[in-house]
Amino acid sequence: MTSDTVVVVADRALVDGVARGPTAVLAAGGAIVRVGDPDAVLADPAAAAARRVDWLHRAMIPGTVNAHNHSFQSLLRGIGDDLPFLVWRERALYRASPRLDADGMATAALFAFGEMLLHGVTTVCDFYYLNAQGNAHASATIEAARALGMRIVLARCFYDWDGAPAVYRETVDQAVANFQDLHRRYHDTERFLVGVHAAPHSQHGASPDMIRAGAACAADAGVPWHIHLAEEKWQVEQSLARTALRPVPAVASLGVDLGNAIVVHGCWFDEAERALLAERGGALAYCPGSNMFLGDGITDVVDLRARGVPVALGTDGGCSNNRVSVLDEMRTCALLQKVARTDGQAITAEACYAMGTALGGEVLRLPVGRIAPGYRCDLVALDLDDPSLWPEQPLEKNVVYALSSRAITDVMVDGELVVADRRLTRVTLAEIQQRVRTVIASLWDAP
Ligand SMILES: [Zn+2]
Repeated sequence: MTSDTVVVVADRALVDGVARGPTAVLAAGGAIVRVGDPDAVLADPAAAAARRVDWLHRAMIPGTVNAHNHSFQSLLRGIGDDLPFLVWRERALYRASPRLDADGMATAALFAFGEMLLHGVTTVCDFYYLNAQGNAHASATIEAARALGMRIVLARCFYDWDGAPAVYRETVDQAVANFQDLHRRYHDTERFLVGVHAAPHSQHGASPDMIRAGAACAADAGVPWHIHLAEEKWQVEQSLARTALRPVPAVASLGVDLGNAIVVHGCWFDEAERALLAERGGALAYCPGSNMFLGDGITDVVDLRARGVPVALGTDGGCSNNRVSVLDEMRTCALLQKVARTDGQAITAEACYAMGTALGGEVLRLPVGRIAPGYRCDLVALDLDDPSLWPEQPLEKNVVYALSSRAITDVMVDGELVVADRRLTRVTLAEIQQRVRTVIASLWDAP
């Protein structure tokens, strides 16, 4: 066996919703091959030459999956807070985004993804719309994830609304050619470390032709497509004014495959829209923290789950949340659904935990989010000596409702430790901080 084989032993573990005592995971080539009692796993001949990682006094959980993010927005954190959306978009977003070059995008991604890793996120989906008619920015973002050792899905945007700065916009032909080029160059079906999906921005950011092109590119490439829908109430009104249809039927009327779609937000879906999404087999990326931060509204996740729609969790961008933790989104999801229904039993910790782990993998169609043979070895170690995990009650409840990010000590992606003893192993935080300072100075000092 090569050093590509690793065995991780922890005092406790959450394995497919079951809290276990001492547990070992054996992985080869980044994939889990065996899970079980340490004695049995360590007796496996394949474990003899494996690297050994001991997580004493720690619990092992699967790495969390961030199904929706915009990494560049981490640089804008704090700038437009508490402003009306359209004011914030003009003053912060549209002013800053044309000034970022590929190096600035790389800095933003190192910052966003580095902070996410420290919060136990091992897979991020970056919905990427500052493409400047090319792939240099998206490539820099992917390379930043690679440098940190993080798993990334780059959902490459298709955008042609002419009200946005030029850096957002492409023609349909440009978007198609650039998507195909990026997909060919990066999409990894061996270790699944980089995925490239298509992402027509929204009904307001992408014309019907652009939405069709994005969905068609995704179908050709065998990947899902993402679209923001019904985030704020005005988007429903705009859809009705333009098409006489609400967002989900309006998009379905374009002849695209909704069953291959990952719809983002859906705060204002009515019952018929939720039923249509379920009937067609679409999925949802849900961002409760961002929806609350912006005052968007409340997606009926309880109803969507009851209808069988797979729901994953996203943090959304760093300037509309402003946190980067999926563990935090699990808690926020539970609290928001409970208050929306004024029912403390509206949803359980276990259901929200699944959305941030196993369902995240299912929605992004990656073998991640579970500690099970055949899945990638993405693991997070939680310090059982941290008071936020006391007393030793059902682990899932404490992880969702009580856990402090302080308890996250180690993070493994594809069998490699990328956070050890609360530090990034590949890039130092000091380097990222210096880069962020330099970029921020250039962003706001320019005329
Ligand atoms: Zn978004």
